[in-house]
Amino acid sequence: MRKPIIAGNWKMNKTATEAVALVELLKEKVANKDVKVVFCPPYTSLVAVKEGLDGSTVGLGAQNMHFEDNGAFTGEISADMLLDLGVEYVIIGHSERRQYFNETNETVNKKLHKALEKGLIPIVCVGESLQEREEGIQEAVVTTQVCEAFKNVQADDAAKTVVAYEPIWAIGTGKTATSDQAEEVCRWIRENLEKIYDSEVAQTVRIQYGGSVNASNVDELMGMPNIDGALVGGASLKEDFVRIVQFGA
Ligand code: PEP
Repeated sequence: MRKPIIAGNWKMNKTATEAVALVELLKEKVANKDVKVVFCPPYTSLVAVKEGLDGSTVGLGAQNMHFEDNGAFTGEISADMLLDLGVEYVIIGHSERRQYFNETNETVNKKLHKALEKGLIPIVCVGESLQEREEGIQEAVVTTQVCEAFKNVQADDAAKTVVAYEPIWAIGTGKTATSDQAEEVCRWIRENLEKIYDSEVAQTVRIQYGGSVNASNVDELMGMPNIDGALVGGASLKEDFVRIVQFGA
C-alpha cells in the first residue's frame, strides 16, 4: 500500500513572519498519521517553518534546487544547503520553473540525479499545456517528460521518487482535470515506470495530481486507483488545506 502524500507548494508567497503564522494555523490540524503532509515554503521561510514544525510529522520541502554542488551560480541553492536546514523533499521541474526559468527535461534529469544522490526526496512535476491537450498529444508529452527525467536513474532510487502530474492548464486556473482525466495520465505514468523499470518500482512510486485541487474536488481525485496524493498550490495557503489532507472524511 502506498502512503498518500499531500504537499503544499506555497510558491512565492509568505514572508518568514507570515509563514510562521500559517504553520501555527495549520500544523495541529493537518497532523494525520495515514497521510504524509509536506509544506514547501519559499527558501527564505525554510528555517522559520522548520522551527515552527518542531515535533510535528509534517515534512519540509523546497520548491527547487540547483544540480551542481556549489560554485558560481548566483542566486541558486544547492542540495547540501537544503539538507543543512533540515529539508527532506524538493519539487523538481514545476511547470512554472519550466515556463519562466528555462527548466528543461535535461535540467530536471540532472536535478533528479543530484537530489537522489544527496538523499532528498524529489517530487518531479510533469504535465502538458492546454495546446498539447487540445492537440491530443498529452500522452506523448508526459511520456517524454517521464522518460527523460528518469534517464540513467537506478531502480532503487527511482522507487523513492514522487511524481506529480500537473496539467499546466489546471494550475492556478480553477480548472481541475476531471478525476478520469487525472487518473488516465497517472496510470500512463505508472505504466511508463513499469516499462523503464519493473512493476515493483511502478507500484512503489507515489503519483500525485496537482492543478486547482481544493476541499471540494479532493475526495473524487483521491478515490482514483493511481492517484496517491496531491500537490496543492493556492489552497495550501488557506485553512482549506486541512480539509484536503482529510480527504474522504
Ligand atoms: C501547483 O502550484 O503545483 C499547483 C497545483 O497550483 P494550484 O493548486 O494553485 O493550481
